[in-house]
Amino acid sequence: MTPTEPYRLQLPAVVSFSGGRTSGFMLRNILDAHQGQPDGLKVCFANTGLEHQATLDFVRDVGANWGVDITWLEYTWDEGHSYKHVTWETAARNGEPFTEMLAHKSMLPNPRSRTCTSNLKMRVTDRYLRTLEGFSEGYDNALGLRHDEPRRVSRVSADNSRESVVCPMDRAKHTEEDVLSFWKQQPFDLTLPGDGNNYGNCVGCFLKQTGKLVRIMKSEPEHFDWWVEAERKAESTASGLGKRFRVDRPDYATLLEYSRRQQAFSFDDPDPGLPCHCTD
Ligand code: SF4
Repeated sequence: MTPTEPYRLQLPAVVSFSGGRTSGFMLRNILDAHQGQPDGLKVCFANTGLEHQATLDFVRDVGANWGVDITWLEYTWDEGHSYKHVTWETAARNGEPFTEMLAHKSMLPNPRSRTCTSNLKMRVTDRYLRTLEGFSEGYDNALGLRHDEPRRVSRVSADNSRESVVCPMDRAKHTEEDVLSFWKQQPFDLTLPGDGNNYGNCVGCFLKQTGKLVRIMKSEPEHFDWWVEAERKAESTASGLGKRFRVDRPDYATLLEYSRRQQAFSFDDPDPGLPCHCTD
């Protein structure tokens, strides 16, 4: 097998680009394997409105530096769940797509029911692709899951959906080390604070480890206003467990309060965080 072979996709195909280093690495390899972006290869970024500004900048920079056409999409409601096209300039920065989706749900997403990933990312991308010639009968969906994430790879591979999920990084045996060393050699990079991993995808994602969230709250608390407000609203619009993103730890308002008081809480041990279906 040549080094590029695992990255050759059967077309039509979509690269689900999350705006992270891993899916960026995968995209570069796919472009190399196809010697560019052939007809029938779409690259989509589905914005939830809760990503860090540096993530949006990175998606823009990947498109500009590599000459790749990235389709920016967002969830919207249009007499039903729908999508719209946006750009770096017009992309939501205050969780508007997420808020709009929640207005049509009776409960908040939670670790067992990840309605945000499915509605804001997977279905948004699928709805768009279904409008394109050649995609209506199905397509391959390349996800940036690495060889060192075998549980996530087997979980998504077992999913029976209309598109067939492929994990070229797993086929190529590429790991986090390969990803990091690749980006060190590039003229541009993701500029999230810290090592970048904490702030990826939705900055305040409920699947992140509690200690990680509290650390982000201490340095960039403004990212959590939306999460506090969503739980506050759900108090009157949802019932039971649907009022909270997580019932196994304090709500966002309480965590934010802890972080402001600089209390020395150690959340790390009992809470290893949960794997997110939104890839890195
Ligand atoms: S990053 Fe977390 S909160 Fe955002 S869409 Fe994915 S699962 Fe939901």
